[in-house]
Amino acid sequence: MSDLFHDQLQALRAQSLHRKLREIGGAQGPEVRIVGQKLVNFSSNDYLGLANDTRLREAAIAGIEEFGVGAGASRLISGTQSPHVRLEAALARWKETQSAICFSSGYAAAIGTIPALVGKHDVVLLDKLSHASLIDGARLSGAILRVFPHNHLGKLESHLEWAQREQPGRRILVVTESVFSMDGDRAPLRRLIDLKKRFGAMLFLDEAHAIGVLGENGRGLAAEQGLAGEVDVQMGTLSKALGVSGGYICGSRSLIEWLVNRARSFIFSTAPPPALAAAAVAALEFLISDEGEQRRQCLWRRIKTLRASLPANQGLPNSSADGHEAGSAVHPWIVGHEQRAIDLARSLQSEGFLVPAIRYPTVAKGSARLRITVTAAHDEPQIHAFCVALSRHADGP
Ligand SMILES: *Cc1c(COP(=O)(O)O)cnc(C)c1O
Repeated sequence: MSDLFHDQLQALRAQSLHRKLREIGGAQGPEVRIVGQKLVNFSSNDYLGLANDTRLREAAIAGIEEFGVGAGASRLISGTQSPHVRLEAALARWKETQSAICFSSGYAAAIGTIPALVGKHDVVLLDKLSHASLIDGARLSGAILRVFPHNHLGKLESHLEWAQREQPGRRILVVTESVFSMDGDRAPLRRLIDLKKRFGAMLFLDEAHAIGVLGENGRGLAAEQGLAGEVDVQMGTLSKALGVSGGYICGSRSLIEWLVNRARSFIFSTAPPPALAAAAVAALEFLISDEGEQRRQCLWRRIKTLRASLPANQGLPNSSADGHEAGSAVHPWIVGHEQRAIDLARSLQSEGFLVPAIRYPTVAKGSARLRITVTAAHDEPQIHAFCVALSRHADGP
């Protein structure tokens, strides 16, 4: 009898698309331990170094002491505990929205929210480089899905015209990210908002890689540009710069009340552990403190150091070589061929750096890359040493 999965896995290996897990034997941080080897980690989204922060740990421990471990039920039954309520109030205060709702993950926030906003005969217009959670949410909604080329507002405009003409009176939802997860570049937010207003569409903005990084107190790109009030649905995750776990939606009171009633990933899933909500509250308190703002400034110094020290890369869309400012903490090092990306990652690991290759289906086939992320917890010598190693290996193993 042939083993179906074995054959499929062999096919993945043949295409250099096979993936496996690597075990980290300790807490997250700028240095991690992988079976006996200590590696400087340039692949984490823990941009502010909060994942193992004492204040967050203490908040989680205190949360466990008071509220136990599991929430025991879904939020609408009996799983809503005080830390969940406090977290949602803190999120709304931080984002300056009327209301907020938290989910078990950013993924759950996306796949629960988009289908609650649009359905059959409505239209979702999605940026080509959107995260899988947004694609899955759009598909699950049953709405008509049109993808526009990355940040291509001309194409978005013609999709909007099409939607208005062919689906008159139906809802149109534009879905995009403020900082793109695998390319690190930003959406042209102001012009996006002008467009969506002109066509009476709603804007769903995923700020997963912008919060904690951009805007005063890390409120994100929309806040940095003074546009937060124009974004209908603000999504983010507690799992990246905030160092914890979970996702959120911020918006109007009626939007959030609607999601409580209609977002299936919220309704039909056990509430997140209350201790994690307590830790997320501590993360938000840190973000709005002076020390939090200083940490964010420190992150930007590290980002600038990385940009200045990276060797030139032809594939880099926003290369420092062309004089552009860094847009975020994410720096794609485009390699192209999958096996070459794996080989480069392996060479860097042998020199003590962890930057796994990013391949299809996370990015398009043939655009494999190293996704280099820097955090406030790295020090300058670590960044310099990494860039030296990268220039040594970048032209082939
Ligand atoms: C990571 C990520 C998510 C999912 O968030 P999780 O909390 O990890 O589930 C959603 N959108 C984008 C752009 C992301 O990078």
